Amino acid sequence: MPAASIEQLASLCKRRGFIFPSSDIYGGLQGVFDYGPLGVELKNNIINAWWRTNVYARDDMEGLDAAILMNKLVWKYSGHEETFNDPLVDCRACKGRWRADHIKGKCPSCGSSDLTEARPFNMMFKTAVGPVADSDSFAYLRPETAQGIFANFGNVLSSTSRKLPFGIAQVGKAFRNEINPRNFLFRVREFEQMEIEFFVMPGTDEEWHEKWLESRLAWWESIGVPRSKIQIYDVPKDGLAHYSKRTYDLMYDYPTLGYEEIEGIASRSDYDLGSHSRDQENLNISAKVSVNRDSVAKLNYYDQPNNRHVVPYVIEPSAGVGRCFLAVLSEAYDEQMVKEPSADKLEAVQAALDTYKKSVSRSEKLSPEQRDAIVGQADAISAELSVRLPQIESMLALPGADSIEVGKKLRGVTQPVVDEFYRTVLHLKPHLAPVKVAVFPLKRNHDGLVSMAKGIRTDLQINADMRTVYDDTGAIGKLYRRQDEIGTPFCVTVDFQSLEDQTVTIRDRDTMQQERIKSSELEQYVRERSR
Ligand code: ATP
Repeated sequence: MPAASIEQLASLCKRRGFIFPSSDIYGGLQGVFDYGPLGVELKNNIINAWWRTNVYARDDMEGLDAAILMNKLVWKYSGHEETFNDPLVDCRACKGRWRADHIKGKCPSCGSSDLTEARPFNMMFKTAVGPVADSDSFAYLRPETAQGIFANFGNVLSSTSRKLPFGIAQVGKAFRNEINPRNFLFRVREFEQMEIEFFVMPGTDEEWHEKWLESRLAWWESIGVPRSKIQIYDVPKDGLAHYSKRTYDLMYDYPTLGYEEIEGIASRSDYDLGSHSRDQENLNISAKVSVNRDSVAKLNYYDQPNNRHVVPYVIEPSAGVGRCFLAVLSEAYDEQMVKEPSADKLEAVQAALDTYKKSVSRSEKLSPEQRDAIVGQADAISAELSVRLPQIESMLALPGADSIEVGKKLRGVTQPVVDEFYRTVLHLKPHLAPVKVAVFPLKRNHDGLVSMAKGIRTDLQINADMRTVYDDTGAIGKLYRRQDEIGTPFCVTVDFQSLEDQTVTIRDRDTMQQERIKSSELEQYVRERSR
C-alpha cells in the first residue's frame, strides 16, 4: 500500500527522525520545520542529485551561492515589493486570517461567511540591518534565490567568459510569510529552493523552454517520481506572474492534496536582466520594466559574431527541496503484509478500533472537523482491515486523536500485530537513501562478530564514503524492519561463517533476498547497485 495521507508520512518522519517541528520544546513555530538525523541525509542526497544532473553532467552550467540578505533595491526592481502579494481576508466571527484563494468563501475554522474584502498582503519578511532601526534600515529575507543569480549575472559572465546559452544554478534558503502554512512540508515559511537561471539568445527561448521541461521531467523520473504522477500545467495568461512570458507548472499527485505544484518552469524573457540594468533605453528590452536610476550595471551580453549587445532571455526551472522531499517519500512509501494475521488477531484490532471510533464520535473535546477526519480514516481502515491495519498509527497522529483515552488501548492491541505481520518500507532510490548499508553481528556479545561488523562499518563509512550504521540492539528480523522503514537498501550480517571465510550475508531491501559474498567485495557490490 503506498502512502495514503500526508499524516502518514509526517508520522513516519517524526518517529524515525526525518523531520521535527521547529522549536518543539516551546510549542513550535508555525510553518517551520527542522530536518533530523535521517532528514538531513535525504535532503542532502536530493540536493546532490540535482546538482550532479544540472551542473556536473552538463557543460553549460556554473554554480553560485548568493547571500540571503541583499540590498533592498533588488526587491524594488525585481517587482517583489509591489507584486509579491497574496490576497488576505479576515473572518469577522472568529478573527481567523486566511488566503482568499485557498478558501471557498467560508472560514475553514468556524464556517462563517462573514469575511472582509480581500486585501494584498506582501509575503516578504523584513529584518533590521545595523544598530539603528529606523524606517530605512531594513532588508528583506529573500523570497526566492533567483534574484541573487540575476544580480551576479555580470560577475559570473566576466569571471568565466561563458558564451550563450549558459546557466547558473543555486540551492538555498527562501522565506515567505505564507498566510496559512499547512500540509506539513508542502507550504512552509522557510524552505530551500533549487533554481536554475538559464540565459539564452532572444528568439531561442521557446525552444529552450521545451528542452528544460523534458530535462526536468527526466530528473524527476531519475529520483523515483514518475512522469505518470506529474501533470504539466500550462499556466493561462491571466495567471502568470508579473515576469513571466509563459510558465509550465509541474503538478505532482500528493497524497491528501491531489495535484499541486512541485516545480515551476518559467520563461522570463529579458524582464529580470532588463529590470536591474541602467541605461535601459539603449538596451532594446522587450519586457515592460520600471525605470531604473539606481543600478550601476548594464546586464547585457556581447554577441561577437553579430557585433551587437543583447539582453539575454531567461528560462527558470525552480523546485522546492521540501516539496521534492515529500514527493520522494510519498513515492517510496510502502506498507506490506509479510504474513496474513490470524482471524482472532484481526478481530481484536477491529473491536478496539470500533470502541475508539465510538469514543471519538461522542467526544466534546474534538471539533466537528477533527471528529470527521478521524472517523473517516477509521472507516476507511475498517473497510480493508487486513491491508490497512498499519494506518491506525497515522490515524492516531491526526489532530486531536491523542486526546481520546481508548486510543492507548487501540495502539497497544495494534502495535504487536503490525510488528509481527507487516513491514513499512521506503523503496528509495539507493543514491537517495539516508543510510546505504546497515551492519549487524549475529550475536552482540561475541567479540569476534562485533569486531568484524564494526570493522566493516568503519571501512564502508570512512574509507568508501558511504553512510553506514552498526546496530546490535535487537534480533536480526527486527533490525531488518527498522532499516526497511528508513529505506536502507542493504543490510549486512556477520555470522560465524564470516569469521571462518570472510564472507557475509547481504540482504536486499526490496526483494528481501539474501546473498553471501566476500566482505572485501562489499563496497563494489553496493556501489554497482546504488547508481
Ligand atoms: P504556490 O503557488 O504553491 O504558492 P509558487 O508558484 O508561489 O507556489 P514559485 O514562486 O514558483 O512557487 O516557487 C518555486 C518553487 O518553490 C515551487 O514550485 C515550490 O516547490 C517551492 N515553494 C514555493 N513556495 C513554497 C512554500 N511556501 N513552501 C514550500 N515550498 C515552496
